[in-house]
Amino acid sequence: MLIRNVLAALPGEKDFRKVDIAVSGGKIREIVEAEASAPDSGSAGGAAGEALDASGLMAFPGAIDPHVHFDEPGFTHREDFAHGTAEAARGGVTTVVDMPCTSLPPITDAAALENKLSIVGKKALVDFAFFGGFDGAISTEEFERTARELAPKVVGFKCYTISGMDSFRAVSQDQLALAIRLCAEAGRPLLLHAEDPGIIAKAQTRLAAVRCGKASSWKDYYASRPMEAEIKACSTAVAAAGGNAAFLHIVHAGTAEAAALVAATGATCETCAHYLAFDEEDFERLGPALKTAPPVKEPSQKALLWRLLAEGKISFLTSDHAGAPDSEKFTGDPLTAYGGIPGTGTLFPYLLSEGLFAKRLNLPRFLEASSGGAARRYGLDGAKGALAPGYDADIVLVDPEAVTTIDPARMFSKSHITPFAGMRFAGRIAGTFVRGSCVFGSTRLLRKEAPGRITEAKPPEDGKILAEPGSGRFLTWGYR
Ligand SMILES: [Zn+2]
Repeated sequence: MLIRNVLAALPGEKDFRKVDIAVSGGKIREIVEAEASAPDSGSAGGAAGEALDASGLMAFPGAIDPHVHFDEPGFTHREDFAHGTAEAARGGVTTVVDMPCTSLPPITDAAALENKLSIVGKKALVDFAFFGGFDGAISTEEFERTARELAPKVVGFKCYTISGMDSFRAVSQDQLALAIRLCAEAGRPLLLHAEDPGIIAKAQTRLAAVRCGKASSWKDYYASRPMEAEIKACSTAVAAAGGNAAFLHIVHAGTAEAAALVAATGATCETCAHYLAFDEEDFERLGPALKTAPPVKEPSQKALLWRLLAEGKISFLTSDHAGAPDSEKFTGDPLTAYGGIPGTGTLFPYLLSEGLFAKRLNLPRFLEASSGGAARRYGLDGAKGALAPGYDADIVLVDPEAVTTIDPARMFSKSHITPFAGMRFAGRIAGTFVRGSCVFGSTRLLRKEAPGRITEAKPPEDGKILAEPGSGRFLTWGYR
């Protein structure tokens, strides 16, 4: 396949370059200046097969979303791999990494991973990897077994300082220190949900006393998980990591002070689109659609997080995709409503519009935040996270002149409850390719023509899934 005349976001470049991208065997074979190939030769150095005239479209490396909860097996009333990966493809995400804690059994040993892989591998539409989990309910010996058995099959490990899940418990301070050491020995990052349980318990006790039996409010939920809890947990974690800070990664950082202190030690962190887009004042308006754990923060944090992302102190953006059905979201009580939103389909459109097009991020930082940073952190660089020869042909085509309106009715995830509903973003995804195959796009964009014929590229009003279930590939650390 040949994608012609496309404005490509290439590694190391400050601006887009108009190029032809030749793809064969699922890999990017060659990228040449568009002028360099003859107008109707259908080849960049002789590539056979279909050619797509992508004039007016932009090409980006497929987004990587290394923080999703696709809940399978076990909690598939909330999400599953068929729906989750379809929504990812719709949103330009070509690789996801699924969390170990929200499937049953949790991924704490090789048998659980193989069982999960045998189920979800038949359904995935985009490429995927797993994290292993350190469950606080298990013993030191079992932690060692978890690390030993899973390191070859996962791209990192995850644990929690506080957990709302019965099937996956928080770790103690000693367990956290052990988990970091085991990860350092295995050469994998340890991902940490960092909120101090003591600060949260105190805040909740205080609020219960003040409420005195009255119904809780969104202000109560926000106040129950204060920013200090994140700051304290992050400083405790980097202290526990000591000389192994480079193996520590803080997930869904929402407090700028916490993110900055993490970055200063050589550890890394991510933030999520919802912490950049919303704040606690939006709870009254959006209610359960905005509820995540941890919650969005005070208004001042949004601009501070954007700055840290622009400076590279926040490494990349994730969705923390975690949908739930109406019955679990709309409980009538802010404290019991399910904490999580289905974000993998809005992640890239949001970051593209509000990061790159709104000039909060330059092109190199946008590429790091959407794909390159996660690829490096999780051992996938060299194959994922860039438009470059030898890399997988994971490509998102975007019409920069069109607009994306977030319409919950068009989401492919099981849950359609999103705080982004109705928002308008600059740019629209015209097609998502995984290893050279179109997974999401318009049939018109990808109409099969005689080899060498130029096909007209027009972004779809309504795209569709074009890949077969199971076409997504299971990735491990060092994948090439
Ligand atoms: Zn999560």
